[in-house]
Amino acid sequence: MRIGVLALQGAFVEHEQVLRRLGAEVFEIRSLGDWLRPKDGLVLPGGESTVQGRLLRQTGLFEPMRREIAAGLPTLGTCAGLILLSPLHFGTMSMQVRRNAYGRQLGSFHTLGSVKGVGEDVPMTFIRAPYIESLLSPQAEALAWVGGRIVAARQGRQLVTAFHPELDNDLRLHSHFLATL
Ligand code: GLN
Repeated sequence: MRIGVLALQGAFVEHEQVLRRLGAEVFEIRSLGDWLRPKDGLVLPGGESTVQGRLLRQTGLFEPMRREIAAGLPTLGTCAGLILLSPLHFGTMSMQVRRNAYGRQLGSFHTLGSVKGVGEDVPMTFIRAPYIESLLSPQAEALAWVGGRIVAARQGRQLVTAFHPELDNDLRLHSHFLATL
């Protein structure tokens, strides 16, 4: 199993560590040359979606990446990665997202919740996180809620979380992603 991790900005190293612990082969994507390497899946990490979106366009990665995700490349997007998949950037996931949705004071928090297909008491670390206001396609499915808001969802081969599963010592979310490849 070879997973490409977008490594332009943000928390990509933590994803790589989790994926390696699960036995996956991992490489970093920073250029079109990296992008062309064979891969079974893609991870879009958390960070700052505005910066990531700009760097994706500058490097020429934006359009080829968008096309392959739309064509069914299995993709895990966390936090800023979720925002990249929304209509604010790639638009491959039909959903309305609210950025920095929890305000300044409550911007970062930790909780446990159940995630459909993954399990109960999944640790959820939110850092200036978005949430999903609504899913706009019958192909999209909500997988987790916190405070009545959707914080994880899937559509086709795309899996997104508003929280950072790579920051907690719980491998179930990544393991679930790898199991679907
Ligand atoms: N607030 C960031 C954004 O809007 C996301 C935060 C994160 O990825 N932890 O892109």
